[in-house]
Amino acid sequence: MPTSRPDRAFAVFGGTFDPIHQAHLACAQYVLTHCAVREVQLMPCHLPAHRASPGVSAQHRAAMVQLAIAPFQGLSLQPLELNKQSPSYTVDSLRLLRDQYPRGGLLFVMGMDSLAYFKQWHQWQSILQLAHLVVCQRPGSTADDGDCPSLLEQYGTTALQDLHLLDSGKIMLLNNPPLDLSATRIRTELEKNQQCAELKQLIPAEVLRYINSERLYSAI
Ligand code: ATP
Repeated sequence: MPTSRPDRAFAVFGGTFDPIHQAHLACAQYVLTHCAVREVQLMPCHLPAHRASPGVSAQHRAAMVQLAIAPFQGLSLQPLELNKQSPSYTVDSLRLLRDQYPRGGLLFVMGMDSLAYFKQWHQWQSILQLAHLVVCQRPGSTADDGDCPSLLEQYGTTALQDLHLLDSGKIMLLNNPPLDLSATRIRTELEKNQQCAELKQLIPAEVLRYINSERLYSAI
């Protein structure tokens, strides 16, 4: 457990959330309960910098995040990137958050697949000067992939208190139960059949209702 400033650290979980699914929620809750942060803020990007543009607007994706997190205390929506008209660079968002919260641990949450190509992220070294990375296990990705070994050798820690005693600069792998789930799979299922029973296991019921009522992701 952290030995100082225990109430100050918070986490930001960036993503496309196209749509948000149960693995996103499980990761956010795992960080909340295992990293001793006061809050996990889910931050949908407007236009992702590292992949093709989502088919569903930032406003719809944010609305789905709101619905998904509503039952959970400690999870919130971070709207910083929603109205940007340019690609969302994580480093820019973290700078804005650092202006608001100059001191204290700031944890940026990602899956192992994202860590594997982190050195391709815009100004990745600056990201580590602004925040720590906490990395969730994801089926199909291991700590041997891509950039993971060199990043972990230089920045890795297994000590939770580092994330609280230091403001930034550490990378910690989490031991969350891996969930084999992606938004791509959900979009594929939705395009085939919006009433598919399996979808109820993959995304929160409120989100599925919203998708149906707004006619999102139906065959284009
Ligand atoms: P897509 O299939 O469209 O690429 P996705 O399911 O990977 O989407 P994103 O919104 O792109 O979801 O991901 C946001 C963050 O959540 C990323 O850091 C990603 O690694 C992480 N993430 C997504 N799904 C999982 C999962 N099943 N386990 C762990 N991390 C995940």
